[in-house]
Amino acid sequence: MAPQRIPLHPSLKALGERVRAEDPFLSRIRSIGNKISLALPLSPPCRFELLQSDRVNAYALPGNLVALTLGAVRLAGDDAGIAGLLGHEIAHLLLRHRRRGSAQEFEADRVGRQLAVEAGFDRDGLKNFLEGFDRLLSASPDALRSFSHPPTRQRLEKLGLFEQG
Ligand SMILES: [Zn+2]
Repeated sequence: MAPQRIPLHPSLKALGERVRAEDPFLSRIRSIGNKISLALPLSPPCRFELLQSDRVNAYALPGNLVALTLGAVRLAGDDAGIAGLLGHEIAHLLLRHRRRGSAQEFEADRVGRQLAVEAGFDRDGLKNFLEGFDRLLSASPDALRSFSHPPTRQRLEKLGLFEQG
């Protein structure tokens, strides 16, 4: 890939405030994210940021930057869930998805889960995250408003299909 200088901060700024550098969740997502991404042919290497927001969302941004909201990390709960979430976003970068439609999301789910597994994380992390998110949505549909992904039920169904294949 040709070296590109893409300013990172404007895109991040539009999404929200970053957490303090000493936030314990930040070192945790960086450590998990590095485990998944360092062996991959991504240039520049992936960087990980955490946004001070209770909403549940995750982004793959130009320059191989992955940003998660605190709401998403709390919902993910354990390392496997966080790895599932990060694997999905890293897969978007690896597959160079420009346009985002359901096909790209399902592909990122499938490839991302594989990346998380190869890095040593439980393969059910993404599934558990999506199930938790689905429960949250049933309780408060408001949480969906800013979520940039297809319906979780559809994604769970697709993951189930891949499971058999
Ligand atoms: Zn996605």
